[in-house]
Amino acid sequence: VKWTEGRGWHDAELVPYAPLSIDPANMTLHYAQTIFEGLKAYRRPDGTVATFRPLANAERFQTSARRLAMPELPTDLFIAACDALVTHDKEWVPAHGEQSLYLRPFMFATEVGLGVRPASEYLFIVIASPAGAYFPGGVKPVSVWLSEDYVRAVKGGTGAAKTGGNYAASLVAQKEAAAEGCDQVVWLDAVEHRWVEEMGGMNLYFVYGDRIVTPELTGSLLPGITRDSLLTIARDLGYHAEEGRISTEDWARDAASGALTEVFACGTAAVITPVGTVKSRRGEWTQGAGEPGEVTMRLRGALLALQSGAAPDPYGWMHDLG
Ligand code: PMP
Repeated sequence: VKWTEGRGWHDAELVPYAPLSIDPANMTLHYAQTIFEGLKAYRRPDGTVATFRPLANAERFQTSARRLAMPELPTDLFIAACDALVTHDKEWVPAHGEQSLYLRPFMFATEVGLGVRPASEYLFIVIASPAGAYFPGGVKPVSVWLSEDYVRAVKGGTGAAKTGGNYAASLVAQKEAAAEGCDQVVWLDAVEHRWVEEMGGMNLYFVYGDRIVTPELTGSLLPGITRDSLLTIARDLGYHAEEGRISTEDWARDAASGALTEVFACGTAAVITPVGTVKSRRGEWTQGAGEPGEVTMRLRGALLALQSGAAPDPYGWMHDLG
């Protein structure tokens, strides 16, 4: 679907996957007006397919668009585009269980020019790719690196938007994490480098027995849809689920004392992944003997069962596509 100033959204079409041709002076290549989303379509045991919370993705896409001075795509158009891609050939949605069809809606400026200002033309596209189980050999805890030299987002910045620049800025810290032997980066707040915010592509949860805490939305971390869904699911399973502030000192101290029983990360790609070893310039520790925790696995099972249609959906989150 195209957007042109004065005309709005027009020319929606479903076309075979193909390369785009880009002008060297395309404004996106220079000024990075680009936003995206990620969501999944699952096949239920009865063969029907459904996407998980596309309205939440559509709304977050609008928030991202406003922050990047881009036109807002109406939620019904966002959802219709995702629906069209899935229903075009439902066979694209893999068999069942943890497999899914990953959808990647994105929008970028298509105007040609070198002046720095919001572009007057944009293109919104959705592409799809089958996604296998994230942990084909069984759920394994990830190791994380606490990034103290770099920050992902600052107050007033684009941290709460899903825009390419945030990911570009994070790559150097990911390289650092890999060099330290870690799988993922944990981002801290930009002012004190102390408050835990999120991971590279996932939000975090801290489990204290039956109390589970996720870092509050400060404006500099992404409001994850999995994070939001888990606040509800966890409460319905009898946990005290809340948003709060966790510092790196709390994390180290409570892991050592045993008060912090589990830590896990959550997002569309991995659903839920346990966090095992935590490493920083000041030390290293391993949560829960390196085994996935009970609460982590229970929540993971509950969310996956809902998404894959193995369990009922009391929240109306699954968008049925027949
Ligand atoms: N944080 C970041 C930086 C992400 O890229 C993602 C993935 N979209 C998440 C958190 C998790 O968000 P969601 O649950 O909506 O996938």
